Amino acid sequence: MRITFLGTGTSHGVPMIGCDCATCRSTDPRDTRLRPSLYLQHPSAAILVDAGPDLRLQALRHDIRRVDAILFTHGHADHILGLDDVRRFNAIMQRSMPCYGDAQTLEDIRRTFHYVFDSSTPKGGGLPALDLTQIDGPVRVGDVEAVPVPLWHGERPILGFRFGSFAYLTDCNRLADEAWRRLEGLDVLVLDALRVRPHPTHFSLDEAIEAARRIGARRTFFTHMCHDLLHEATNARLPQGMALAHDGLVLDAHA
Ligand SMILES: [Zn+2]
Ligand SMILES: [Zn+2]
Ligand SMILES: [Zn+2]
Repeated sequence: MRITFLGTGTSHGVPMIGCDCATCRSTDPRDTRLRPSLYLQHPSAAILVDAGPDLRLQALRHDIRRVDAILFTHGHADHILGLDDVRRFNAIMQRSMPCYGDAQTLEDIRRTFHYVFDSSTPKGGGLPALDLTQIDGPVRVGDVEAVPVPLWHGERPILGFRFGSFAYLTDCNRLADEAWRRLEGLDVLVLDALRVRPHPTHFSLDEAIEAARRIGARRTFFTHMCHDLLHEATNARLPQGMALAHDGLVLDAHA
């Protein structure tokens, strides 16, 4: 299974509009971060995790032509606002898009994109075709099994996903009790690390390092970073086996 980081930034993206800080002005391409999303390719299926506002640009940048399903971690704007671009995948795949999320996320999608689910909306190629399915256990797409991992994003319960030896945990500042057991024996972990200072709904870098140590994956990559974290300088002081992810990073893992 091949994993491509389509976006590793927080909701504002990096550079942030109207900011002149060192990260936002950096010439290191690893300091440019689109909104968070992941693309998994397996011979039997291609899966998108979240569909944020940069989906069109991400699909063009990586020439993504196949998406068999979208798994949603939660319904915040930076994770769902690209759903209109699913129209192209409807056309290419010749089918409606299977979309999986928890009950709250599906409600968020139905409310944010109310016109898509309103039968009185005039048709004519302007609407994405979305098949929403609530997650209440592992999801199978082709031969890939996605195991939901319960997380806390502030007061809000959201989902991370484990695919074989790989796990993707974005937008969290705490793991639910049952999550730890589901994360045993990982090869690669991806974990939220927003910034250095604490935040009410995201892990700070120190908190993320501590959680990553306890999870104990062979390698850990951090994501959902804001402009406080300059790539090269931050990486230089991370513990062995941990690094910041960056847009375009590609990893191979066992599904
Ligand atoms: Zn900045
Ligand atoms: Zn969020
Ligand atoms: Zn987010």
